[in-house]
Amino acid sequence: MAETFFEEMRRYVGFGPDDEACLRRLAPHAAPQFARIAEEFYDHLARHTEARRVFADEAQVQRLERTLQVWLRELLEGPWDEAYFARRARIGRRHVEIALPQRYMFGAMHLIRASLIELADAAFAGAERAAVALAVHRIIDLELAIMLETYSEAFLDRVQHLERVEKDLLRRQLALSEARYQEIVEKGEALIVTWEPGRPIILFNRRSEELTGVTRQQAAETTWFDLFGDGRDDPARSRERALLGGQRQPPFETALRDPSGREHRVRWHLTTLVEPDRTIVCAIGIDVTEEHALTVRTRRAERLASLGTMAAGLAHEIRNPLNAAHLQLTLVDRRLARATPDVGGAREAVSLAAGEIKRLASLVGEFLDFARPQPLRRSRADLRQTAEVIVALLAPLASDVGVDLVLEPGDPVIAEFDDEKMKQVLHNLVRNAVEAAGAGGAVRVRVLHRSREAVLEVEDDGPGFPPDAALFEPFFTTKESGTGLGLAIVHRIVTDHAGAVDVARRGGNTVLSVGLPLEPL
Ligand code: ADP
Ligand code: MG
Repeated sequence: MAETFFEEMRRYVGFGPDDEACLRRLAPHAAPQFARIAEEFYDHLARHTEARRVFADEAQVQRLERTLQVWLRELLEGPWDEAYFARRARIGRRHVEIALPQRYMFGAMHLIRASLIELADAAFAGAERAAVALAVHRIIDLELAIMLETYSEAFLDRVQHLERVEKDLLRRQLALSEARYQEIVEKGEALIVTWEPGRPIILFNRRSEELTGVTRQQAAETTWFDLFGDGRDDPARSRERALLGGQRQPPFETALRDPSGREHRVRWHLTTLVEPDRTIVCAIGIDVTEEHALTVRTRRAERLASLGTMAAGLAHEIRNPLNAAHLQLTLVDRRLARATPDVGGAREAVSLAAGEIKRLASLVGEFLDFARPQPLRRSRADLRQTAEVIVALLAPLASDVGVDLVLEPGDPVIAEFDDEKMKQVLHNLVRNAVEAAGAGGAVRVRVLHRSREAVLEVEDDGPGFPPDAALFEPFFTTKESGTGLGLAIVHRIVTDHAGAVDVARRGGNTVLSVGLPLEPL
């Protein structure tokens, strides 16, 4: 059987049966002095401010003195076996727990040693005295060895604990950075592709899969250039070369068709990731399709806006001469009416010209309505009443072309809106509906509440909108004599009210609906 720590220590300090016998001989001489030794021991410690700090109160000190007396008795009476070692080690651990500085241990043990040697000196003489003193030295050294051992055990425990804590921390940090990686690489909107120069793709994230329709397993068999590149003399290749040569590369764009056939523009940033044993190229792509479309739209809108201002000025200038010309034609017509007979159908020509001029005037008028922004004049009113007025106004026109125009009955719908402007909205919508429905068709107008909106619906059973029609764009028209401004004006007025216009097909019918917030924003 292997030697225990205690046995080894005993051997090391040379503590044997002779020493045990010596200590037992000293024990009866020392026992009456145990109380005194214990008291002196704690007095001494108490004088030391730093050591004193580890004692809570006087009661504790008295308890400790009693423990020390037991300790002394065991020290001199044994038996010095493994159980003894276990008890001593427990006391040692207690010292560690209360954080008694290690250096005090030596001072304290010295006190005990000195007291016991003194007692041995008094009780024995000659060779016996020397043997007993040696035994005292050995047992005290043994005690010190045990105490030191408990300190180093505790130290080891602490180190191991810290190691565990640190490992835990590292594990948590790793999990966190993995989660962050997931978040950035897999959940983000960017395409992320990495590869080793001249080799197939290593990393191919979710967004790349979505936009190309290629899985990461498939991607691992190809290269970035196969998937996104531009054929054999792809400029991206020279970009990669320059990048590997240490030159930073500006972003560049490629075009790509997604699995549903939609075109995308992707703006790529190429960078390198330097790993210990290789260099990785990383391409980060951002889908800039929308941004691109927006730029085009903005540019067009800007051009239209300046054209619009000019056109509005022009329209304004045209209106007066147009009215004057119309007036002149009316006069000519009157004179011709008096002259008989009608020379070569002159009156018909005049009425034709007057008709054209009237149409032109109404175009100019509508255009000015659209182009000149006018402030809203809101008031609380019943939208249903507004609808009643317009439906009544357009009823003759509808019956002329054979359309059944009805306002569905219902409760008042009170909201804040500009009555004149909403009349115009309804007018434009109902006219369109009547024109779309055509002879034998029907148009229904509805006014209702829906959550926090006042809703206006105009439904017709006409053929519906041409596909992909830019309905709300000014001048979009499919009618020979249309201006293409009606819906543009509707849109403008409704958005001025912070509302929305919606077009839908419902049960084979066309429904244009306008939602107005009940309270102005
Ligand atoms: P216009 O009536 O002068 O053509 P609008 O702006 O009022 O101009 O309408 C633009 C176009 O939208 C129309 O030419 C027509 O093609 C389409 N449209 C409008 N309303 C309807 C509808 N109710 N049903 C089918 N198409 C419509
Ligand atoms: Mg119209």
